[in-house]
Amino acid sequence: MGDKIRVMYSEEEVDKRIRELGEQISKRYEGKTVHMICVLKGGVFFMCELAKRITVPVTMDFMSVSSYGAGTKSSGIVKIVKDLDQSIEGRDVLVVEDIIDSGRTLSHLMKILNERKPSSICLCTLLDKPDRREVDDVNVDYTGFQVPDEFVVGYGLDYDQLYRNLPYVGVVETE
Ligand code: 5GP
Ligand code: MG
Ligand code: MG
Repeated sequence: MGDKIRVMYSEEEVDKRIRELGEQISKRYEGKTVHMICVLKGGVFFMCELAKRITVPVTMDFMSVSSYGAGTKSSGIVKIVKDLDQSIEGRDVLVVEDIIDSGRTLSHLMKILNERKPSSICLCTLLDKPDRREVDDVNVDYTGFQVPDEFVVGYGLDYDQLYRNLPYVGVVETE
């Protein structure tokens, strides 16, 4: 209770950036239907706002994964906790994530999804920490913001399940 949060990207900045991404994505998928896949739970706020800014037809599905690993370190061995409801075969898929850190989770997840033969697959993340990348096979098509190596919260991102509902991206200041 009562942690201080330093704002990194304000609500206005995030909203503006999401509008820009929505425009770019709408152009890329002209004449098509985008099948957005939200990686729960972190991606859910970004997914909802982004979907509202996309002007081509949109369908959605949700997936929840957990990566095994000691402590906070991602192992990249992804366990599907909740799988998609629908097949993605032949669809134009846009995976929507909150943040890419080591990249291990996404590297594994993209492999799993590619095996299901989508017509195309792109990756969109609200935040990216490129300095932390440990794999080189994660291709990010759309990034909201590149962030430094700090633990960020808000806009879907949690600290011990808290702070997901903050309408901005911030950093918990520890005393
Ligand atoms: P990766 O496999 O890329 O290392 O793990 C990515 C996952 O780690 C994200 O989906 C997110 O759940 C978590 N994560 C990585 N960095 C941060 C951060 O700065 N803040 C929060 N809240 N979660 C993070
Ligand atoms: Mg995530
Ligand atoms: Mg988390």
